[in-house]
Amino acid sequence: MSSGKQLVKGKSGLRMIAVSEDERCPFLLEEPHWTDDKQFPNCVKCNRKFDFTHRRHHCRRCGKIFCGTCCDHKVMLPRLSFVDPVRVCEECSHTAKREEEFFERHLKTLMTGAYFIVDESEPLRFLCKLEHHSQRELLFECSDHDKSAVHEPVMLMKIVSAQLVANEENSSVSGLILKYKEHDEMLEVKLTVVPSPEEHRKQSLTWLAAMQKAIKMLFEVGN
Ligand SMILES: [Zn+2]
Ligand SMILES: [Zn+2]
Repeated sequence: MSSGKQLVKGKSGLRMIAVSEDERCPFLLEEPHWTDDKQFPNCVKCNRKFDFTHRRHHCRRCGKIFCGTCCDHKVMLPRLSFVDPVRVCEECSHTAKREEEFFERHLKTLMTGAYFIVDESEPLRFLCKLEHHSQRELLFECSDHDKSAVHEPVMLMKIVSAQLVANEENSSVSGLILKYKEHDEMLEVKLTVVPSPEEHRKQSLTWLAAMQKAIKMLFEVGN
């Protein structure tokens, strides 16, 4: 079913994006609107006046206009799918660093998955992981012997809230409640960190931390 990705020429360079809207990774952003040149005779940061030797440069992350000195970072912008490093302003270079860390580290953690007890009616262990192709949904694979247990996937873009659950005794993180909308109905799934073995418990906590970053990013996009 996969129609794959294609190279498209954006304003600021080549971008590699999914052909089909249904396969587009939910963490990706569109190219920003570029501020109109005429409205800005000066750099928005240092206020230096633009002229023939001090040219305007648009930051590829925020689209604002800077002088060359204030917009001299060249970075990868994984959320904008550029295939090469592009020019960004100081502020956006920090954002880009965080985003790159998310794509390099946290996204991998989410795709590797971790064990959780899913919902409490029947305390079964599931391996929860982000689907790796388009990174659009959370999958639940039952890891207990009862193979008949299933939990429907949860689309990331349908999540409306994510609430951490704390352990009452020592207030450490013990789980996460995800609320999501499915066919106009509000549903929720509760992921509880497995108490043992220790390496599974640690993995669950790392996964939850990565999930929080993912949620933050999704909500920023405005989904
Ligand atoms: Zn400047
Ligand atoms: Zn910027």
